[in-house]
Amino acid sequence: MTSWVRDPAFARDQPFGPQTLPYGVVDAGDGPRVAVRLGDHALPLRSIAHDLGDLADLVSGSSLDPLLAATRVEWSALRARLVSLVTESSTPSGAELLPLSDVRAVLPFTVGDYVDFYCSRYHAENVGRIMRPDTEPLLPNWTHLPVGYHGRSGTVVVSGTPVERPHGQRRGPEFGPTGRLDVEAEVGFVCGGPVSRRVPTGQAAEHIFGVVLVNDWSARDIQGWEYQPLGPFLGKSFATSISAWVTPLDALAMARVKVPDIGHPRLPYLVEDSPWGLDLRLAIEWNGSVVSRPMFADMSYSCAQQLAHMTVNGATVRPGDLFASGTVSGPSKEQRGCFLELSWGGREPITVGDTERTFLEDGDTVVITATAPGEDGSVVGISPVEGTILPAVDL
Ligand code: CA
Repeated sequence: MTSWVRDPAFARDQPFGPQTLPYGVVDAGDGPRVAVRLGDHALPLRSIAHDLGDLADLVSGSSLDPLLAATRVEWSALRARLVSLVTESSTPSGAELLPLSDVRAVLPFTVGDYVDFYCSRYHAENVGRIMRPDTEPLLPNWTHLPVGYHGRSGTVVVSGTPVERPHGQRRGPEFGPTGRLDVEAEVGFVCGGPVSRRVPTGQAAEHIFGVVLVNDWSARDIQGWEYQPLGPFLGKSFATSISAWVTPLDALAMARVKVPDIGHPRLPYLVEDSPWGLDLRLAIEWNGSVVSRPMFADMSYSCAQQLAHMTVNGATVRPGDLFASGTVSGPSKEQRGCFLELSWGGREPITVGDTERTFLEDGDTVVITATAPGEDGSVVGISPVEGTILPAVDL
């Protein structure tokens, strides 16, 4: 390749080569600007606005909001234009290429409604066995619908934001900083397109702009006391981290796979004409050690089925809405997507580097990464999501 972008990380065998082109918002000290990631650089799109024609208005501002409010036709046209511009041999006039180390990536869009699902059979069964050992691990509704809840969009934060250990009420009742702070490795779907209701599975691509990684930080002792009968609340609402860069759905065309069989026919509104499962391979790094490698292809409901379910009652989907898959876990121990499962409720410590851990300690850092197969043997990256635990404040 003889692109004008001189960056060894901008290559087809690298996760952020020209096959990926995720969108984000960076600030180099002069205010936030929409950019596309090229290897280890950011290209602010305002700097090449004259090459983008009518599409420039969608990406000339300080957030992805106008782009999300556009349509699939415009998203695909912009991507095609960018693919062409970044693979040319001569530099487009005015193009500014900023090393990622010189910019701060900020939350790239205004998060609207936030929904978190629970779509890994392995995760749901493991949690059922840990939390309710005397009952069937799966509740009767689980194989019929993608179970979910509405989360707190106001505390969705961008990758790199430190996470303060939360206080809360736990069994006893006692009150204090959580002693069982956990992660959940998830995949998030960033919504866009016209405000709509009752989105059929076949229309998913009109309303899903792209993909991020999500860390749904969870305080298990707070959650375990408060969650019945209405589900997660303060044990999760203190922080939810997402990738700084949104990988467009178009970049994942080669990663589409059928979701696993669920053991009986699905209701008609959840049937897919074309597969929307995704072959994303995740990894969870705890203080630099990989402790798990979950496979997103193991999830029992796709993003299209989740969106169809979420809107089938007439609820709207709007640009900027975010929905997450639920913890991604697989059949083997090395594929469990949270520490509750990896440590089996805290009973089986995990080796992290040269230490043993059950839940997070202050100063711990967790990074979730993912890749997917791209065209012609290339690798598509989903931008990492990272967070470090700060001590609880004194109350
Ligand atoms: Ca979750």
